[in-house]
Amino acid sequence: MNYAILLAIILTLLAAWYAWRYYTLRRDLNDYARTIRQQPGQSLPDIRELDNLSSSVTFLISTFNAQHSVLDAERSRLATVLDQITDGVLIADAQGIVQFANPAAGRLFQFASPIDHSIVEVVRNHQLVEAWRRCQQTRQMQSESVEVPTRHQYLQLVVIPDQHSSGSLLLVQDLTRLRRLETVRRDFVSNLSHELRTPLASLKALAETLQEGALDDPPAARRFVDQIQIEVDALTQMVNELLQLSKIESGRFSLDLSPAAACDLLDSAARRMQVQAERAGLSLRVECAADLPQVQADAQRLEQVLVNLIHNAVKFTRPGGEIVLIAEPVDGSVRFAVRDTGVGIPLDEVSRIFERFYRVDKSRTGSGTGLGLSIAKHIVEAHRGRIWAESTEGQGSTFYFTIPR
Ligand code: ADP
Repeated sequence: MNYAILLAIILTLLAAWYAWRYYTLRRDLNDYARTIRQQPGQSLPDIRELDNLSSSVTFLISTFNAQHSVLDAERSRLATVLDQITDGVLIADAQGIVQFANPAAGRLFQFASPIDHSIVEVVRNHQLVEAWRRCQQTRQMQSESVEVPTRHQYLQLVVIPDQHSSGSLLLVQDLTRLRRLETVRRDFVSNLSHELRTPLASLKALAETLQEGALDDPPAARRFVDQIQIEVDALTQMVNELLQLSKIESGRFSLDLSPAAACDLLDSAARRMQVQAERAGLSLRVECAADLPQVQADAQRLEQVLVNLIHNAVKFTRPGGEIVLIAEPVDGSVRFAVRDTGVGIPLDEVSRIFERFYRVDKSRTGSGTGLGLSIAKHIVEAHRGRIWAESTEGQGSTFYFTIPR
């Protein structure tokens, strides 16, 4: 970027120099012509001298024209680069009035046309304004990274003193996405360690209890071994789900799409979960119109989404409740729904349940790994569909997802 701006400045100076040379030559020639016109008696200059002069002028003009078109091409190339880059570029004069702003600068500062406005007005953040002031005072490059909570942004600003004027050049980078990814990664590692610590601690406690004498008490020993098995199963499920999630997120996952009948998908998932629902004292039924259009789906993976949703409905619905699987047409897609009459999800948490490891109440009986819904979300989105939930605490939940035809 600095190189491009330096190049533009050098080319502008060159053009100015040629323009000045052209102008002085034209002026000298005009003076010369005027002298000849005013003193007609005077002897005419040597014709060869005039010829030489004329060819020099012609050469200069053509060189100037060539330089001018090179400059024009460079300038339009630079303008395109400045228009297209995602980093913001602002040039301010010594008083901090913006003289130049590329479109990205306007977008990043959410300011329609920054030119002729002050840096304070455009930037609207005192740390960034301070960085610009420091650069103006010290004539040294300054950089500053700030979070702008009102605009949900994380920006990095570099202020460079302009060597050819007393103003400065401001380069702005939007690090919001990068920062968000970093936070997600950090949260993921800390969540994962936390999730692993709980079953590991209880496995250790169970093993110690067995060592400390429970082994000699066969009924108690059996209970502890059963408990160990439950903990190991939970750990295995978590590891399997993590592997699946990592496979999906790293792109090592492809869908085997083919036309599928929505009702068949619901029927097959319902068959798989029927026994589990009955055992929990729940009724499970399918509502599906026979003339539904087919969807483009990886049937096995969509069935996995439905099974995950039904499994949750079974876990979070008290005996006597009902689970209904529904499919209906909406524009260009089929909308699937899994509705239950269970404990529901508090309104302010509905938007978070698709996050990895998110569980409404970790102490709720039946709470699992918190990974099932994020896997379901990935699978639905890979089908170019959308998944969401509607619920109120205590009044059941409905999970919807759409799959294009
Ligand atoms: P888990 O393995 O904990 O079920 P999920 O990602 O499938 O993980 O679900 C995340 C959380 O969303 C659950 O722990 C639960 O708090 C909430 N949840 C999901 N489905 C339902 C439902 N049908 N009713 C009530 N809460 C639900």
